[in-house]
Amino acid sequence: MKQKAVVVFSGGQGSTTCLIQALKRYDEVHCLTFDYGQRNREEIDVARHLATTLRVTAHKVLDITVLNELALSPRMPLSLPAVAIGALPGALPSTQAGRHLLFLTLAALYAYQVQARTVITGVGETDFSGQAQERDPLVDAMSQTLALGMAYPLTIQTPLRGLSKAHTWAMADAYKQLNLVRYQTLTCVNGLLGSGCGQCTACHRRAQGLEQYLANQRPLRNDFLERLNGC
Ligand code: ZN
Repeated sequence: MKQKAVVVFSGGQGSTTCLIQALKRYDEVHCLTFDYGQRNREEIDVARHLATTLRVTAHKVLDITVLNELALSPRMPLSLPAVAIGALPGALPSTQAGRHLLFLTLAALYAYQVQARTVITGVGETDFSGQAQERDPLVDAMSQTLALGMAYPLTIQTPLRGLSKAHTWAMADAYKQLNLVRYQTLTCVNGLLGSGCGQCTACHRRAQGLEQYLANQRPLRNDFLERLNGC
């Protein structure tokens, strides 16, 4: 039987690195990108381009802009609860975490359609490597709930859980795709590719992680490979 996975794919550094790993591990990789009316439409173009470049089995862009109908006014963006995923000690708080609950549910439904038993999502990075717990209770609970609800043996994987930004760069490098992730992914909140605007928090974190990685390339890559072998 073919091993299949669905990757929740934004075209950013983290999810692209997860995608690169998935392509090494699964016979078929289906990517799912959510169009929730993001301010930077470039994100979706970047995701499409990367999915083609990396030759994924299929790439679906799902329109979920209907969500914005829940917003109080068209000028006010929809607020979603900032809960749980990645919110354990050592992890960064995320104002977008509530959205991931919805994304995981939709990704699970897509996985069922394409008969994939794994959903991969790039949540759970930390600024302090090794501080975060190995497992996220919310992800475990979601895995269990979705599998029960669909009567389908589905698991959610979070390959970046507990990794620092520097380790995420090490991961891309270990799969020989450092340059692709460095120059062709989009993390910047101002919608600029690669190193981005250099001003926003996302750009700062990305640049800081890269700097740390390039200063300690070999030990960090070995560290990542050891973690991988330990899994
Ligand atoms: Zn930026």
